[in-house]
Amino acid sequence: MLLTLSTTHQPAEDLSYLLHKHPDRVQSFDLSFGQAHVFYPEVTPERCVACLLLDVDPVALVRGKGAGSDGLLDQYVNDRPYVCSSLMSVAISQVFGSALAGRSKDRAELVDVPLPLTARLDVLPVRGGEDLLHRIFEPLGYTITATRHPLDEQFAAWGEGPYYSVELQQSITVARLLQHLYVLIPVFDGRKHYYIGQDEVEKLLAKGESWLAEHPERAMITQRYLPRQQSLIRQALARLAEEDSPLGEEDESASVESAERPERERTLHEQRLDAVLAALLAGGAQRVLDLGCGEGKLLRLLLANKQFTEIVGLDVSVRSLEVAQRRLKFDRLPERQRERIRLLHGALTYRDERLANFDAAAIVEVIEHLDPARLKAFERVVFEHARPRTVVLTTPNREYNVVWESLPAGAMRHGDHRFEWTRAEFEAWGNRVGEQFGYSVSYSPVGPEVANLGAPSQMGLFETITIE
Ligand code: SAH
Repeated sequence: MLLTLSTTHQPAEDLSYLLHKHPDRVQSFDLSFGQAHVFYPEVTPERCVACLLLDVDPVALVRGKGAGSDGLLDQYVNDRPYVCSSLMSVAISQVFGSALAGRSKDRAELVDVPLPLTARLDVLPVRGGEDLLHRIFEPLGYTITATRHPLDEQFAAWGEGPYYSVELQQSITVARLLQHLYVLIPVFDGRKHYYIGQDEVEKLLAKGESWLAEHPERAMITQRYLPRQQSLIRQALARLAEEDSPLGEEDESASVESAERPERERTLHEQRLDAVLAALLAGGAQRVLDLGCGEGKLLRLLLANKQFTEIVGLDVSVRSLEVAQRRLKFDRLPERQRERIRLLHGALTYRDERLANFDAAAIVEVIEHLDPARLKAFERVVFEHARPRTVVLTTPNREYNVVWESLPAGAMRHGDHRFEWTRAEFEAWGNRVGEQFGYSVSYSPVGPEVANLGAPSQMGLFETITIE
């Protein structure tokens, strides 16, 4: 099975930097079920074509966890080695992991830029009819060309099979295209080659972030992504509904609905936002800033609380602001809500008059993205010039990283983190800033605590010291 990615963006070779794979040689990767090869049949300034070819070992596949097979023969004789299925998604995440996460060392400036891209899948088993291709890909903006293959060219009487060559085209970022393929390839097939657990819900929501909640077929996509896992499906749909619910007035039906929702653990990020929100509410703030607001998760919580009369989100990433604007459904907000919120494009390392005269600022998981050399500028922008009465700032606690087995020793949690602080380092920084700019500081853990290591995240609450 083959995934072919091509672009006519110029210089087309940029695609190889975005994929983090050198265009001059064939590169092979061992996967649990066989090998993946990456190669470039065409690289000119005008056009670049990259191929991801999977060479699946059917025996290795059976030795693994089993392919949801029906019988012994079916275990060995099936279409798995030849079609794009969940195996392709695994290969995408392992071979194009950085690109999927939207990272590029050498073309960072292009990561957020939509490029003219074409993805071709040979072949995709579409169980449920060709119509499915249109219902799933069209709302995402793709132009689709699908060619159906006969079951056997020698025996026309056998008719058509469920197998298609599919070409998808649009101007889109490489990361978003790969996220779509990662989630949607297995959806057409409706089978998974591995055990489906809670992890799969997290993967679906993470890779589907910023597009799945708004997809008109999100329920069908979720059901097919988590085949036969009713409780996981319910959970995923409830969480997608949370992301998508329009932000009208607070009303009682919302709380009834959440009381009926299946219990689940709050994710770490939700716990973090809860803690920040609680601190802002407790401080009595009305006019609040969310600095480095990203895609607007905290803004949404702020908007749902009447205490906050003026809410301003600022971020350096235009793409994030666009997502926030879409997620918050700016164009559909009732006027009273719309008047309470604004989004600003700006950088926290430059003095910005627009940030003056606020009661409070939240700075959630942002500081670790700043270049250490720019920290001093950031401190002055926030604590000297904007100078809100309260600042609530969270950042990862590096000591906790050893708890996550999947994180290589010494690695940071996110490719874009410039540093991660221990609790002592965070407190030393906070105390110094407090002293320099006249704020008192208190610290609290966020997330479940482990003896001697603390919690995954840490929060500092800064309050101006008023001299009577
Ligand atoms: N606060 C959000 C997003 C955290 S991710 C949340 O908790 O969900 C970090 C965010 O900081 C990103 O959206 C990034 O674009 C933004 N950011 C990084 N450097 C910045 C800077 N110098 N000025 C403003 N925003 C910045």
